[in-house]
Amino acid sequence: MAVKIYNLDEEQLCNGIKELDPSTVALERAATLKERIGEYLKAKRAIHTGFDLAREYAEAQVKILDCLGGWETDWNNWRWQLRHRVTDVDTLATLLPINDLLRQELTEVSRHLRWAISPYYLALIMCDQPLGAIWKQAVPSLEEVTDQSGSDDPMDEQWTSPVPGVTRRYPDRLIINVTNQCAMFCRHCQRRRNIGLADQHLPYPQLSRALDYVRSNREIRDVLITGGDALLLDDQALDWLLQELHRIPHVEIKRLGTRAPVTLPQRITPELCAVLEKYPPLYINTQFNHPLEITPEAKRACSMLVKAGAVLGNQSVLLRGVNNNPHVMKKLNQELLKLRVRPYYMFHAKNVRGTSHFITPVDDGLEIMEHLRGFTSGLAVPSYIINASGGYGKVPIAPNYLIGRSGNRLLLRTWEDKVISMEIPIRTTIGRE
Ligand SMILES: *Cc1c(COP(=O)(O)O)cnc(C)c1O
Repeated sequence: MAVKIYNLDEEQLCNGIKELDPSTVALERAATLKERIGEYLKAKRAIHTGFDLAREYAEAQVKILDCLGGWETDWNNWRWQLRHRVTDVDTLATLLPINDLLRQELTEVSRHLRWAISPYYLALIMCDQPLGAIWKQAVPSLEEVTDQSGSDDPMDEQWTSPVPGVTRRYPDRLIINVTNQCAMFCRHCQRRRNIGLADQHLPYPQLSRALDYVRSNREIRDVLITGGDALLLDDQALDWLLQELHRIPHVEIKRLGTRAPVTLPQRITPELCAVLEKYPPLYINTQFNHPLEITPEAKRACSMLVKAGAVLGNQSVLLRGVNNNPHVMKKLNQELLKLRVRPYYMFHAKNVRGTSHFITPVDDGLEIMEHLRGFTSGLAVPSYIINASGGYGKVPIAPNYLIGRSGNRLLLRTWEDKVISMEIPIRTTIGRE
């Protein structure tokens, strides 16, 4: 591709503006911008959200309630949802189109790995096409047990845990893993080694030690409670834990990591919100990966959390066959903003054993970032992150916009791929004047 360099020095800019009529230029520019969005607008129409599939969802809900023996009021009860997670091939096969071969594969995988799908998320799978983006995140595939590449603990969390339950790899913040429980075990889970055979919360003495660690390390100003899914603790346990953290003067902010708004939105109850409300500032990061997960229920859950004062963010995972498509990701991030969820991170899938079928080339991620920046609201642009092995932390990866520097001249590439040379002071010595 030929690179055209636009020399926008002040002098030239002034000359240019003198020669041309600004309103003509502005109109031409507006027409060009309108053209730039055409392809997306066309693609966007074919990408559905959960709002578009209300009828399919209602039908699925009836079938699932019928199969599991529940009432419509049960559906909105998170404990019912949790108790009735589908965990066996026979039940799944009565609700999803599963042929003999698939059934054999599922049976084989089930001998080695735990899987569980909330009735709510199962309804979303039934709205999606077989083996589609929603299905792939929830229903196990044979590749999970045949894959021999990757590692069980690619982030080396076991090597960055100063006390049980705590992961610390940054100076001022840490993670407490409070449970291994989830409403659904995502097939791409980075902590699948922790899923094990049974649901287990971090035992009280260890939780207590983790809190002591935070108390005695005064540089820790940000504590992230995750798992598993932080919102699978009950209201009472969360109340206690958040209160303990709230009482530590040097803990400035608390964060919860949860996929409940996506896999179990019924968990967001007025009672839960009454607890969360008491401990600001609270940041909640969730993981929407596809526009089909944006449903009326998810919206209601997010809206309740916002009203309880939480600041919502999204940490999507870039997954092959799920969302490694610029249009899908753009729509997802735009839809999230409508729910008042700010796209925060897009993670490159980690090299976890049993998940290599999900891993995309880095170029997929870069292409998505390239399609977001400038083309849509900056608010809809997450940071693209690769987790360094060895537990060395998150590394931001971005398309290159600074393509050269020399003297006081920068060569910049804009979102439209225009290369602009600009005269601008560049600090070349260390220190401040
Ligand atoms: C991701 C992570 C955090 C939070 O990182 P931010 O970039 O601040 O969101 C903190 N501790 C650990 C161990 C992490 O993996």
